[in-house]
Amino acid sequence: MDAPVDRIRQENAKALADPESYWTEAAADLVWSRREGPVFEKLDLPPYGRWFAGWESNLAANALDRNLAQGRGAKVAYFWEGENGDRRTLTYADLARDVHRWASLLRDSGVSAGDRVTIYLPMVPELPAAMLACARVGAIHSVVFAGFSEAALAGRIRDSESRVVVTADGGYRRGKVVSLKPVVDAALRECPSVTRTIVVRRTGLPVAMTEPRDVWFDPNSAPTEVPAVPRAGLDPTFILYTSGTTGRPKGVTHGTGGYMVWVYRTMQRVFGIRPEDVFWCAADIGWVTGHSYIVYGPLLVGATSVLYEGAPDHPAPDRWWEIVERYGVSILYTSPTAIRAQMRHGERWAQSHALGSLRLIGSVGEAINPEAWRWYQANIGGGRCAVLDTWWQTETGAAMVSGQAGGAFVPPKPGSATLPLPGVDIRVVHPDGSPAKAGERGHVIIAHPWPGEFLGLWNDADRFRSVYFERFPGLYSAGDYALVDTEGYFWFLGRADEVLKVAGHRLGTIELENALIGHPSVAESAVVGVPDEVKGEVPFAVVVLRPGASPGPELEAELRALVRSAIGGIAEPKSVRFVRQLPKTRSGKIMRRVVAAIARGGDVGDVSTLEDDATVEEIRTAVANFQTEL
Ligand code: ATP
Ligand code: MG
Repeated sequence: MDAPVDRIRQENAKALADPESYWTEAAADLVWSRREGPVFEKLDLPPYGRWFAGWESNLAANALDRNLAQGRGAKVAYFWEGENGDRRTLTYADLARDVHRWASLLRDSGVSAGDRVTIYLPMVPELPAAMLACARVGAIHSVVFAGFSEAALAGRIRDSESRVVVTADGGYRRGKVVSLKPVVDAALRECPSVTRTIVVRRTGLPVAMTEPRDVWFDPNSAPTEVPAVPRAGLDPTFILYTSGTTGRPKGVTHGTGGYMVWVYRTMQRVFGIRPEDVFWCAADIGWVTGHSYIVYGPLLVGATSVLYEGAPDHPAPDRWWEIVERYGVSILYTSPTAIRAQMRHGERWAQSHALGSLRLIGSVGEAINPEAWRWYQANIGGGRCAVLDTWWQTETGAAMVSGQAGGAFVPPKPGSATLPLPGVDIRVVHPDGSPAKAGERGHVIIAHPWPGEFLGLWNDADRFRSVYFERFPGLYSAGDYALVDTEGYFWFLGRADEVLKVAGHRLGTIELENALIGHPSVAESAVVGVPDEVKGEVPFAVVVLRPGASPGPELEAELRALVRSAIGGIAEPKSVRFVRQLPKTRSGKIMRRVVAAIARGGDVGDVSTLEDDATVEEIRTAVANFQTEL
C-alpha cells in the first residue's frame, strides 16, 4: 500500500484514539484568549460531543489581526474581479480596515454579541468584510445567496430574527444589472425584527432609502478601531441554510472554536496550502463552500484568494480560464456541475489560455463522474494535476473525505472521494446499523463527533434530532448512500432516500447516471425510481445531451443498452427522456426529487431553491410524453 495512504490511516487512528491531544495540538497555531477545560467532551445526547467549550477566541482576530501580527499586512488577501470587468486588489491590511469600518457601523446600528445579521450581497469584497465584522463583534451572520427571491429572503430573515440586513443597490449577473435593494424592501414588510439596513453601492442604480432605517456603507469613512469580542467555543458564528436538494432548507448553525480549527486544518491538509499559492474557490459565498473556502479557511492560513462576482461563461465560456491566467491561480476548487458545463462548451475555451500555474484542481458538491474527472484532469489540469474530490456537507463545516486527506496525494481513483481526514470516523452501514463489508452499499454515518460539526438547526431542535440522529441512534446520519472498497476508498452513490430498489437490488442514483454520462452524446443525467408492479421500482432517466447530439428512439435504445451492459439488466431504465436542462438548486445540484415527484405523479414539494422554474415544466412534458407512449 502507498505511503500517503498508510500515513493518513495512522494519523486518523491517532486522532480518534486521543482527540484531546490531537486537537489541542491542532489548535495551537491559532490565537485564543482563554483555554480552560477540555477540548473535547463526550455527551449522551445529540450531537454527542462538544468542542472547545471553555476556550475563547475570535474568528476575525484570527483571520486578520493574527496575519497582520505575523507580517502579512501587505500580502494580497483578495484579487477581486467584477463581472463587468471592475477589479480591486485588497491586502490583509486593506481588508482589516474595511472590517473595522463594518464593525463600527454594526455597533452603531445596535448590534451586539449574539445578534443576528442577514447579509444579502453579490460577490463583492464587502461580503467577506461584513461577515468578518459580524464575527469581530460576536454577531451571528446569515448569508443569503443574492439570487434568492423576496420570499426566500424574508423567510430566512424571519427565521433568524435578524436585527440588521446588509445589502447592495445591485450586482452584475450574466451581463445584466440585478437590482437587490427593492427585494430587501419588499421582504422587510414582513420582518419586524429588522431596524437597520446597510447598503453597499455597487452598480450606481437609483435606490429608495427609508430613513432612519437605511444607511449607506461609506468605503472612505475613517475606520474606528473595534475590539474583537471574545467568543466561547460553542457560541454560534453563523447560520447557513442548506441547498434544499432533498427538501426544505435547514438552518445549519456553526460554532466558533471547533469550526475554526477544522477549517484551518483542512486548508493545510486538503489543499496543502503554501504561502505563494493563489487559491480560487469558484463557489458563491452564499453556500458553505464559500464560507469555508473563500472566507474563513484562506484567511485563517493567510492565503491569497480570487473572488469573482459573476457567471462562469460571461461574456464567453473562457471567462474562468482568463481569470486563472491573469492571477496565476495555483489551486482551483469548483463543482461537478461547473465542470460538466465546461465540457459541454468544449475544451477549446480552456486551450486558448495558459493554465500552467495550476497545481491542484478540486471538486465538491456532488459526486464527480469519472468522465468529468478525466476531462477536468486532461483539459484544465493539463494532465499534471490530479483531481481532488472532496466530500462534505453544510453540516460538517469543511471537508471530511478528500483526495488529499493528509497533505499528500492519495493515489486517485476517478469517481471516488478517496479517504477520510484525520479525526473523521465515517462508515457505511446496513439499514439495521450493522457494518457493511467492503464493496457493500449502505448508509453513510459518522460514528465520532468531529470539531467542525454543526451545533444544530437554528430554532429547530426537533428537526435536528430527527433528521440526523434518529435513523441510527448514537450516530450522525449523513443521509448519503455509499460503498467503501477493499482499499478503504469511499464511493458516494447518491442520497440515501433516493436509492432505487429494483427487483430486490439497491442502486445509488449516481451509479446509473455515471453509466449514462459514459456515452459520448450525454452531458448530464438524473435517474429516479418509479413504481413498477413487477419489479417494485424501475429506473426512469432524464438526460441532457452534448451539443450536436440528436435525441431520438435510437439514442434512447443505445443508452438503455449502455446501462444494461455497464450495470446489468435490472438497472436498465424503463425510459430515457431528453431535456434541455435538469432541475437544479441555485448551488448547482441536481434536484432528483423534482423529477421523481413528477414521474410518480406527486407534489414537487419545496422548490424555493430551484434555479429555474422552467425546468419543472420541461420534466412534466417529458413525463407526460413517456406516459402516453406506455
Ligand atoms: P439539503 O440538505 O437541503 O437537501 P444539500 O444536502 O444538497 O441540501 P449541501 O450541504 O450543500 O446541501 O450538500 C451536501 C451534500 O452534497 C452531501 O450530503 C452529498 O450528497 C453531496 N456531496 C457533496 N460533495 C460531494 C462529493 N464530493 N461526492 C458526492 N457527493 C457530494
Ligand atoms: Mg443535505
